[in-house]
Amino acid sequence: MSKTAADFRLDGIYTQRQDGFYMQRVKLPAGVISAGQARTVADVSTTFGQGTVHLTSRGSMEIHWLKEPDLPRIKQELAKTGLTSRGACGGAVRGITCGSQGAQGFPALESLAWRLHRHFTGNPRFERLPKKFKIGVEADIVGGRHLIQDVGLVLAGLADGRARYDVWIAGGLGRAPRPGFLLAGNLPEERIIPLIEAIVAVYVAHAPPPQRLKYVAAQLGQEELRRLIEAEPGYGEELPPVSGFTEHIIPPSAGRVRLILPVFAGNLTADQLRRIAEAADIHADGALMVTANQDIALLLAAGADPDAVAAELRAGTGLSAVVGSHRILRVCPGSHECRMGLAATREVAALVADAVPEALLGLEWAVSGCQNSCSQPQLAGVGIVAARLSADAGGTKSPRFDIYRRRQAGLGEKVHEGLTSEELVATLMGID
Ligand code: SF4
Repeated sequence: MSKTAADFRLDGIYTQRQDGFYMQRVKLPAGVISAGQARTVADVSTTFGQGTVHLTSRGSMEIHWLKEPDLPRIKQELAKTGLTSRGACGGAVRGITCGSQGAQGFPALESLAWRLHRHFTGNPRFERLPKKFKIGVEADIVGGRHLIQDVGLVLAGLADGRARYDVWIAGGLGRAPRPGFLLAGNLPEERIIPLIEAIVAVYVAHAPPPQRLKYVAAQLGQEELRRLIEAEPGYGEELPPVSGFTEHIIPPSAGRVRLILPVFAGNLTADQLRRIAEAADIHADGALMVTANQDIALLLAAGADPDAVAAELRAGTGLSAVVGSHRILRVCPGSHECRMGLAATREVAALVADAVPEALLGLEWAVSGCQNSCSQPQLAGVGIVAARLSADAGGTKSPRFDIYRRRQAGLGEKVHEGLTSEELVATLMGID
């Protein structure tokens, strides 16, 4: 029996806007990947694609320009190093994301991400859902990423090696952005998996495809959604964490420096990724991270000289590694590869980077090629969304952009809409 589009999506594969080509997404719990696995991704991209790797704002990797007959072999190659794509797209529990890799509490978050990844990936109870189901683990609420997940878990405390979490639910972006709400506070980690199972059960029972949990919250109201979840048999259950599997790839951070490699629009060449993996082997215990801002981070081993490693990486990859703050500009693939894309997002991002005064680039920026908002524009200081196409007098269609501005906690607000490219640049130059 031939595979349906839904089967492909559950295997982490989307068709590209270019006929005959496919994108394979690889799930990385909390954005963590070993140097060996990164080399495999680079090799797959070189052998079967066009030698490029895209880093996503959920800390995954995507390999574009693949052909259908190669997909089974690609799956095999990834599996050889323990990588999986199951549920990376489509109606499934997606990759567990983390925007707090630099936080003190990251070891607890990483181990929870691995446990959630293991429990929900490839489990038929959590596949063929009405739509995607996103889980994020965060150290705090500063970046607002807990607000855009179906389940956002925020570290509330750590005592005697036991982590506790605040649980936010029913958030999401897309055409109808809706911030999540606090379902329960300060829960022990042992309650998290049964609670998510209860949330998924309510979601499946009340959301018609292709709606997300935020739709159920909007339809029934937060209190009714809370009542339904609390009525589920597993709501108060505690499950001891299973040990013996991967808990951490990233070593404890004490005495280590975090080096960031900003990657424009999240696009690396396979060769750059290989060089970074080599540096990770030598200087960072063979581990690297894809950040939620589409960059790469290395936690350098004690004694490694950050300036020397940065110089080595610059020479090998052309990327300027930094310690501390750096420019944040998240960019989705847009019409370069994505079927939904209405605008050439990398060109828009380059335009922004060139046109906007230096001082404003210190804000967090994001560009999305359609209202699906994959680059999370509503969480950026300034978010740009290609919202629709509009025809000029001669019938030529071009994108119209909306601008979102986030000045405080919560989601950014739309402050301009329907702008042409020229109007976009002029407006951004004057934005405060
Ligand atoms: S925001 Fe739209 S165009 Fe960009 S990757 Fe997501 S679906 Fe594609």
